[in-house]
Amino acid sequence: MVNTISVPNTQTFVDKNQTSLFASVSQRLEKALKYVAISEDAIARLRYPKASLSVSIPVRMDDGSLRVFSGYRVRYDDTRGPGKGGVRYHPKVSLDEVQSLAFWMTFKCALLDLPFGGAKGGVTVNPKELSKSELERLSRGYIDAIADFIGVDVDILAPDVYTNSTIMGWMMDEYSTIKRHLCRGVVTGKPLTIGGSQGRDTATATGAFHVMQTFLPKFDRVPEETTVAIQGFGNAGATLAELLAKAGYKIVAVSDSQGGIYAPQGLDIPSVREHKNSRRQIKAVYCQDSVCSIVEHQTITNQELLALDVDVLIPAALENQITAANAADVKAKFIFEVANGPVTTEADRILQAKGVRVFPDILVNAGGVTVSYFEWVQNRNGWYWTLEEVNQRLQTKMETEAKKTWAIAQDLQIDIRTAAYIHGLNRLGEALDAKGTKDYFSIRE
Ligand code: GLU
Repeated sequence: MVNTISVPNTQTFVDKNQTSLFASVSQRLEKALKYVAISEDAIARLRYPKASLSVSIPVRMDDGSLRVFSGYRVRYDDTRGPGKGGVRYHPKVSLDEVQSLAFWMTFKCALLDLPFGGAKGGVTVNPKELSKSELERLSRGYIDAIADFIGVDVDILAPDVYTNSTIMGWMMDEYSTIKRHLCRGVVTGKPLTIGGSQGRDTATATGAFHVMQTFLPKFDRVPEETTVAIQGFGNAGATLAELLAKAGYKIVAVSDSQGGIYAPQGLDIPSVREHKNSRRQIKAVYCQDSVCSIVEHQTITNQELLALDVDVLIPAALENQITAANAADVKAKFIFEVANGPVTTEADRILQAKGVRVFPDILVNAGGVTVSYFEWVQNRNGWYWTLEEVNQRLQTKMETEAKKTWAIAQDLQIDIRTAAYIHGLNRLGEALDAKGTKDYFSIRE
């Protein structure tokens, strides 16, 4: 029996007195709604998440004790298809955060025209404190707790912050055990050997790279004369750093949760990545064979990285990094949001007044869910694509929707974030109206 919480939220989604993350993120819609002609019915539906589930997950720890973790899954909307979204493991995970992330997934999938709704999951845990077997028991316990809430055609899981392909493999296996048949399509981002897709691990970064390559030339930016700072050196941030460096961009600063490094002459990203992987910390190193030397660099905090005098700033860590408190310090001309929600609504206003162009998460980081869609299609067909096929289709999808978003922004003379919401909102509105019943009740003799 699952513990389903109906959605008792009686507040409108743009209640300015509410201080939750969700209240703040949903203000983005308020702005976009001014430009779209979608029905009142559709707007009313988009005010609330369709369903939210809170669970307790008891886990037997290696020392024999029992710990109980809190977990969540929110399906925000499934009008355009089954819910889709990652599962986050982080000490700060809350229902409010998961709901906000599910809201973003809804618009992201609509913006990319993927036949999915939006969903998200999370467990409140610091996974770095758990052994591998504790992590496996937690992941399987999470699936046991939410199994009745998800499914290949209902709601599909994927990796997010501090979850990876190994964890996705355990989750798919656990769900299949519960259902007593193989259910590959219930989880994406799996290891290749058990139904993962080529290119899924690099998809978020590759998608972001195509978005940058689509937009930056419009401002006459060439890679060789463009300096970049990246906050977050996880899978997305580190892979994107490598792609950008290879294309000629000068990556002058990177950071992880412990802090960062800054080298105005540019960093050798493969060496930094190697050092980080082997020693779990960031240092500006240049390695040749087994010999590594520390290169002159400045150690900086995450806050200092956000205020660096660079052309492009890429927040690729967590939400709420650029806020009303530090937005005025930003010197970059362009921000590409690889993380979900790194710039708050208040910060948006400050940045816009300063002329900083912010390219939004729901477009920039959508490469991940796009290749998740490809994985789901491959799982259902049992026909697997080459890396070239995946990458080609990803590039086409990212460039197509980036260009459409740009056209909306130009046409209406608005910021690119609002244009992205309008683009997604139009598709969502159409789908909601196609399923609607209002016409039956409006007929007057
Ligand atoms: N967690 C990623 C995101 O926020 C990927 C979601 C997915 O692949 O379903 O977009």
